[in-house]
Amino acid sequence: MVVEPKVRGFICTTAHPVGCEAAVKEQIDYVKSKGKMDGFCAKKVLVIGSSMGYGLASRISAAFGMGAATLGVMFDKPGSGNKTGTSGWYNTAAFEKFAAAEGLYAKTINGDAYSDECKKEIIDIIKSDLGKVDMVIYSLAAPRRTVGETVYKSVLKTTGDAYTNKTIDLRNNTVSEVTIEPATDEEIEATVKVMGGEDWEMWMDALKKADAIEDNAITLAYSYIGPKITHPMYYEGSIGRAKADLLESSRKIAQKGFRSYISVNKALVTQSSAAIPIVPLYVAILYKVMKKHGTHEGCIEQMQRLFAEISENKLNLDDEGRIRMDDLEMKPEIQNEVSEIWQKLDQDNFKEFTDIDGYWKDFYALFGFGIDGVDYSADVEV
Ligand code: NAD
Repeated sequence: MVVEPKVRGFICTTAHPVGCEAAVKEQIDYVKSKGKMDGFCAKKVLVIGSSMGYGLASRISAAFGMGAATLGVMFDKPGSGNKTGTSGWYNTAAFEKFAAAEGLYAKTINGDAYSDECKKEIIDIIKSDLGKVDMVIYSLAAPRRTVGETVYKSVLKTTGDAYTNKTIDLRNNTVSEVTIEPATDEEIEATVKVMGGEDWEMWMDALKKADAIEDNAITLAYSYIGPKITHPMYYEGSIGRAKADLLESSRKIAQKGFRSYISVNKALVTQSSAAIPIVPLYVAILYKVMKKHGTHEGCIEQMQRLFAEISENKLNLDDEGRIRMDDLEMKPEIQNEVSEIWQKLDQDNFKEFTDIDGYWKDFYALFGFGIDGVDYSADVEV
């Protein structure tokens, strides 16, 4: 069938298999163009949240930059009938195909990473195929987590007082004001359950208990800080509380002998970030400014650089011990320009002052649309 994008607000309900494959290939080609990493190279890498965004880019960097065997965990859907699968499904099929072509081990479990069953399944595969992993990437972005009978739902809200600022309505590309209500204590607690570090620690404990991880293994989870304009929504919002918890977990994991890090990454268009109020407008301005300065990076540029810095043991750590991959985003000259634009931005000038076209290009690309060289009029197998 011919697959077309069906966008509803900040999600696209279709994905293009050939487009996703081409987009994965572009990422692999980028990593290969940077050459094999020649310092420390992880050999057996588990990526939790491996099918999209930062997790997929991490997996590609580990496999094609470090030459690692990779085991992935994702939560995706295959196509059925005339319904397409999710982009994560197609990305993973493509990744496994390209990995196999180069003799790189790659297996993926499609399941709920929060569950005990999934942890057991992964540990069984590690024991039978790999022995022990030496790197664990925790890159989940999920709206909910089920523990026993309880379903915790994460919310994207502020904390303290309600917060009003500009936002972009992605349904119709209009700039307007939005008021974000504060999360209740219960909602904050649920968000921490979903996006905090408890499950990461559970993974590390389970791997250690099963003797499926090297003693000095390295593990990373991803976070975001951003500038003041986004703080009430992100850093000081319900998600920020979860990220503070993630940092605490990183320290606890380090106390167990692992090399544990939080990497603070750049704000980018992914399926998860598109759902956050205010942030997409900030991202559209940031893209404009960083592209002008020639410092813009996407997920793959960020992760290739992160893995290269790990390989060379040249981590850019802040005084909290976090790796700062948002260094270029947070440069004063970039943030001053973003902030100037933010002040004067309105509906009439936003096309001029934002890279809204770049935003949408990246958004469609997440689902395999708008990729160079793909014939979108052709019939494809979904
Ligand atoms: P994403 O939505 O692109 O990918 C999320 C991944 O998690 C997918 O592979 C998905 O299949 C998987 N997943 C979701 N629920 C799952 C479940 N229950 N079981 C197994 N797998 C599941 O997300 P992303 O934007 O790449 O975010 C990854 C991490 O990076 C998050 O911690 C996020 O906070 C962080 N981060 C994102 C940005 C950004 O701008 N996007 C910036 C800094 C940090």
